[in-house]
Order: sequence, then C-alpha cells, then structure tokens
Amino acid sequence: MSRIKRKIGSWLGLDHYFWNNRPAGLYSVNFHRIGNSDDTSFDPCVFSCTTKELDEHITFFKNNFRIISIAELNNLLSLNQPIEERLMCVTFDDGYIDNFTNALPVLKKHKISASFFIATALIGSNTVPWWDKVAYLLKTYRPAHVKLSNWKKPVLNTYNEKIFIRDVLTQIKCCKTSAQNQIYQLEKQLGFEHSYPEAEFMNWDHLRYLLEEGMEIGAHSHNHDILTKLSEDELFYELSHSKALLESKLKTNITAFSYPVGNRSTYNEKVIIGLKNNGYELAFNFQPGINRLPLASPYDLHRFPIAPGISNEDLMKLFGYAKRF
Ligand SMILES: [Zn+2]
Repeated sequence: MSRIKRKIGSWLGLDHYFWNNRPAGLYSVNFHRIGNSDDTSFDPCVFSCTTKELDEHITFFKNNFRIISIAELNNLLSLNQPIEERLMCVTFDDGYIDNFTNALPVLKKHKISASFFIATALIGSNTVPWWDKVAYLLKTYRPAHVKLSNWKKPVLNTYNEKIFIRDVLTQIKCCKTSAQNQIYQLEKQLGFEHSYPEAEFMNWDHLRYLLEEGMEIGAHSHNHDILTKLSEDELFYELSHSKALLESKLKTNITAFSYPVGNRSTYNEKVIIGLKNNGYELAFNFQPGINRLPLASPYDLHRFPIAPGISNEDLMKLFGYAKRF
C-alpha cells in the first residue's frame, strides 16, 4: 500500500508534502557494515554505506529528528503515552570491526549515541558467518551457477558478482535446510579444502570501548541463526547465552534485542515469549515503518534499512511514505 502511495505521490509531486507532514513517532534506522564494499574478501552486500555517506546521513537525521538512546526510549515507553516528537534510534547489527574503526568516529563527531546489536559467537573468535563464507567461496571459485539440494532451480552467475552473491544468499535463506549444511554442500561442490581468511568482527575490548564512549549494546542472538527454524532448546540457548555473555564480559544490563535477518518470518510468538522470559524489554525487526507511541508491542519495533547509495531525497521519500504501526 505504501508503495502505491509513494508512486502516486511522486507522480503528483507530493514528496515534500508527505515528508513535511510525516507523523510523530519513533523512526529507527539500521546499518550493518560501514566502508568500501570493494575492500572485503567477504560479503559486499552487508555494507550499508561508506564512512562519508554515514556522516551525511547522520547530519540529515540530526537536522530532522531528535536522536535518542535505547535507555531514553525505554523511559518513554514506560510512560505509555503518545508523543508529539519525531524521534530516532540509530542502530548497527552484527558487530563488524568497521563499526568501531569507521562508524564510531562519525558518531563521536556528531555527539550521538547509537546501539550495536551483537551476535556473540562472532566476537573475539574468528568465526566467519555463513553469508561471508558463501561470498568468499563465490568470489574465489567463480562458478557459472550454484545448485544445492532442496533448491528448485540453479542460481546463475549472469549479471555481476554482487548480484550473484545476493541471489545465492537469498536462496540459502529461503531453503529449509540449515545454512550450515548448505555451506558444507557448497564447499564440497567447489572443492574447497583450505581455511577462510580472518573474520572481520570486533573483539570484547572494542565493545567495552564503545560502551565507554557512550554507545549502547544489545543482543543479536549467539550464532545468528534464523530463530523460527530452531528447536525450543536451541532458541532458549540463542536468547539466554548471548545475553549472559554480553552481561558478564561487559558488566552491563542487556535489555534490547534485534532479530537475526529480521523479516516477519524470522520471529513469532514463541520467540517473543522467549525474549520476555530472558528479561529483554524490547526487540527490533528489519522492516521499514514508523512506530507510533504508545506501541502495540515493544517486541516488534520497525527499522528502516539504510541501503548503499541512498540520497537525502531518497531518505525523505523513505520516511515520508512509510507505513505506520
Ligand atoms: Zn544480523
């Protein structure tokens, strides 16, 4: 519906009208990696923007929203009242090293607090996540196509490398077989017998430093598996172990969560009950939308994914025509 509204609105020249009249509420944005996507031997599709673009985005956000921390959001939510302001939470998922080297200096320069959602198995362990493994294999072996068991048809390497990587990753996410099993098949098909390059994630000292600099940390599960594919025991482990690790290593209370992958099929009532039972107070998804306060559920907070190359005009349309929840 918002897509049709956006098409008609743009056609009628109403982009600025909708932007200027966007409602009060919580607008959250989400970034993953910051930097140049050509510089990694892993997945280039995880990059949200360059460091320069992040600086421009934060300037735009500061001029048009009041940026708040999750602690402030929690206080506001506890009041359970409507608000008249346009608020924004800035979030980063996964825990890549460039969040520390590239994003933190920009956030400090603008004196804003952001939240970093961490998949704890990736911290200080040299674990390469499945999407980075897939990208590395495709970049290294450059197969003409990929077809794994339980896939209906092969994914062809017809356009460019980035699109090929993205299409294979999408297929892996959609397939009911676990990502780990699919990687194993892919490694076998391509004859991969070496080891992967060093993973590109932060360590525990980096996370401690983020906290010292006024940033906030949340959990993003332990292994970054899709939670709805897990057994009850596995789900409990993902929610409890990531929280316990972060709390013991960082000596802080962890109350916020972001769902791995984060579309509607990756969390459900069981997951939300698990979050409540483990003492999480709110959770972010990965679907665009304006959160009107008071919220229907603090465990279904919408976030706008920030895509590479997005301009201020694009951002105005993204927020101006967004769905309201
Ligand atoms: Zn993630």
